[in-house]
Amino acid sequence: MAKPYPYFISLSEARELLEENLATITSEILPLDKCLGRILFSPVKAYVNDPPFDNSSMDGFAVMYNDTLSPPTTLSIIGQSVAGKGNITASITNSQAYKIMTGAPMPTGADSIIPIEDCEIKGENVILHHRSKPHYVRNKGENFQSGQIILSKGDYLGPEQMSLCAASGNFELSVVKKLRFAVISTGDELKSKGEKLDYGEIYESNSYGICGLIESYGHHAVKYDSVIDDIDSLRKTLNDAAENCDVIITSGGVSMGDRDFVRKIMEEEGDIKFWRVKMRPGSPPIFGHWSGTPIFGLPGNPVSSHVVFRALVAHWIRKTTGSEKPKEIEIDAKLSHDIKTSPDFTTFRRVSVYRDNIGYTAELKGHQGSGNIAGIAHSDGLTILGPECQGLAGDICRIMLL
Ligand code: AMP
Ligand code: MG
Repeated sequence: MAKPYPYFISLSEARELLEENLATITSEILPLDKCLGRILFSPVKAYVNDPPFDNSSMDGFAVMYNDTLSPPTTLSIIGQSVAGKGNITASITNSQAYKIMTGAPMPTGADSIIPIEDCEIKGENVILHHRSKPHYVRNKGENFQSGQIILSKGDYLGPEQMSLCAASGNFELSVVKKLRFAVISTGDELKSKGEKLDYGEIYESNSYGICGLIESYGHHAVKYDSVIDDIDSLRKTLNDAAENCDVIITSGGVSMGDRDFVRKIMEEEGDIKFWRVKMRPGSPPIFGHWSGTPIFGLPGNPVSSHVVFRALVAHWIRKTTGSEKPKEIEIDAKLSHDIKTSPDFTTFRRVSVYRDNIGYTAELKGHQGSGNIAGIAHSDGLTILGPECQGLAGDICRIMLL
């Protein structure tokens, strides 16, 4: 019977549906030193010029270029300019030189610098054996100017952007508020730390990886106790999560089995936007809303839960925050062996990546079962073999590095 929602769709169709169902972001003002890894909510304008004054990029002597055209040249040293102790009235004229340190202001009249290693100091004089070079002068405002937009809404704040904000006088920023993700594992067989495993039971492990993924994508994970396979318990936990969090992520219970209660409760009481995606591993995911809150039902198989997060949830996060980052690095690598693909599916196989002088090679890593968390934990990356790819040995394949 046809489902009343998109069913068993391609990865790109699933991503399109995610993009139609983004969360609303809000902002907060934070001190700069709390902004690492955050996304800008508002553009950042420079409060100062960079550099704020003409200065030297070398330790040496500030001189007039025209004085140095016929080396050797002897100039008289008339003063010294030190970083942080610039004298605004310092100046030179022909045949004069000012000793200068890196970052110290240029004296008026000087237009070039001779590095200290090219100078011979004799008493009050300096002898230059080469012509001067103008490019050792850093001109006021050459990097950015006061009032200029130096970062845009949606830009990611990595270490380099943090320094740029400080250099431009921005010590408080408006950033996207972290989304709160409820993380809910489901399954009668799941046991927590400190509990003894009886026959048929396993340690609950998905939530640790999922919380790690959420944090590494810059958001806040709220971990719930695992829920047993029971519709009332699940409803109670989902209601609590919808009330207290911005997004819900469950794992387990989304396949076609009798005891796949996340899928069942979503069919009966939720709002499903799609169920099942043509990807391997990880074909059972469900996405929709529970009481108005976006919910991702990830498969229970540990590798699938990781792969679906990176392929779908991470995409939704980036579109929601309006930033292309954080994102895994992707490279092109040659496949060392054939990789099994299925028509219409996107295939994410675990690979090791090697580099030689020709380029990167990707080699299948161990047992590829979707229950084998050791396989993904010991791999370097995942193939991204789109529906059009055959995955033959020698083919160049996109690899998402983990
Ligand atoms: P399910 O999707 O509920 O049918 O589960 C598929 C497989 O994943 C089963 O072998 C489960 O035991 C396993 N599994 C489900 N949830 C978790 C979890 N939170 N941690 C580790 N394994 C899980
Ligand atoms: Mg289950």
